[in-house]
Amino acid sequence: MKPTGFVFHEDYLRHETGDQVYSFKGGKTINVGNEFENPLRAQYIKEMLDKSGLLTKMKSFRPHPASDTDLLRVHSQRHIVHLKEACQKGDRILGPEVYGCHVSEEIARLSAGGAIKAVDIAMKDEEIRQVYALIRPPGHHASRDQAMGFCLYNNVAVAARYAIDSLKLKRVAILDWDVHHGNGTQDIFYHDNNVLFISVHEAGYFPANTGSVDELGVSAGKGYNVNIPLPSGTGDAGYLYTFERLVQPIINEYQPELLLVSAGQDPSGLDPLSRMMVMRPGFRSMAKAVRELADKICDGRLVVLQEGGYSLPYLPIATLGVIEGLMDCEVDFHDPHAIPNQPITYDLVEAVTLCEKILAPYWNSLCTPAHS
Ligand SMILES: [Zn+2]
Repeated sequence: MKPTGFVFHEDYLRHETGDQVYSFKGGKTINVGNEFENPLRAQYIKEMLDKSGLLTKMKSFRPHPASDTDLLRVHSQRHIVHLKEACQKGDRILGPEVYGCHVSEEIARLSAGGAIKAVDIAMKDEEIRQVYALIRPPGHHASRDQAMGFCLYNNVAVAARYAIDSLKLKRVAILDWDVHHGNGTQDIFYHDNNVLFISVHEAGYFPANTGSVDELGVSAGKGYNVNIPLPSGTGDAGYLYTFERLVQPIINEYQPELLLVSAGQDPSGLDPLSRMMVMRPGFRSMAKAVRELADKICDGRLVVLQEGGYSLPYLPIATLGVIEGLMDCEVDFHDPHAIPNQPITYDLVEAVTLCEKILAPYWNSLCTPAHS
C-alpha cells in the first residue's frame, strides 16, 4: 500500500453555512434544510476513512492557517479585508452563492493552510510523496478579488503559488476534476506558463459562460489553460477515456515537478449539483491514473485537495474510491448505490475530439484528428 498523508483539522467543521430558504413575494418562506456545502460533508468523509480502516494506514497531519503573505500571492488585500469584515459583522452572504458565519474567514484561511501543508509534505517528507487534504471550505471558484460558489480563498491556487515562490518549483500542474468549471483558478493563472491548469467539467453548467475549450490562456499562458467540457451522463468509462486521450498526454508532455488535484467528488451519480454518473470505481480509476502519472513524471509528488461533492450519502463512498486509487488498495465495502458501468457515448467522443482538435496546436502529444 502506497504511503499517503492525510491533512485535516477538526475546525473545518466550524464553518457553518446555514439553511437554504426559498422566499415568496409577500414574505412566506420554505426552509429546505442544510446548504449543500455544510460541515457534514467533511464529517462523513472522515468517518468513512476512519471506519474503513484506511485512516490508520495514512499518516495524519494538522495544518496551520495560511498567512497574509500566502494569501496575497493570489488574492488582493481588498478581498481579504472584505471577508474579514463581513465575517466580523456576522454576514451570512459573503459573495455570489457563498455562505458563512463569524469564523468563516478564519476557517477558510485554515483550509488554504491545509493545502500548503499538503504541498510541504509532498515536497519535503522523507517517506510520503502523496497527500490527501480533507479541507473546507472549497476554493476553486474564488478569484483574486471575489468569493464565489461556496469558495472563499482559492486553496489550490495558494498551494501552487507557494510551491513556485517558496519552494522554487518551475512547473506545477493542476488537474481539476470537480464537476464545475474551476473559473477562479483559471483566472488566477490565465497569464502563466509555470502553472498548467486543466479543468474537466460538465459543459454549460456552473458558473455560467465559463469553461469553454476556447479559453486557452493569454500571453505566456496561451495553451496552458485547458478546459475540457464534457456532456451530461459521461460516466466512469467516459472520464477514463477523456483522461487517456487528453489529460494524461498533456500532463506528461508538460512534465510538472508537482501535480495538484482539485478533487471535487461532485461528478458522482448521486450528486444533486451535477448529472455525470461517476461512481466509486470511476473515482478509484481517476485517482489511480493521477498516481501513476505522478510516479512516472514527478517522483510521485501528488497533492489531492478536497473541493466539491454534495451528496451526503454518496460523497463518503466516492471519496473512498479516490483514496483506494491513491493507496492502490480496495476496501471490502459494499456500495449499496452501485450501478452498471455506463458505455462511452457518441456525444462524449465528439466532445473529446473537438477538444483535441483545438488543443493540438499547443500540445505535440495530441494526435490531430484525421478529418480536421
Ligand atoms: Zn463543484
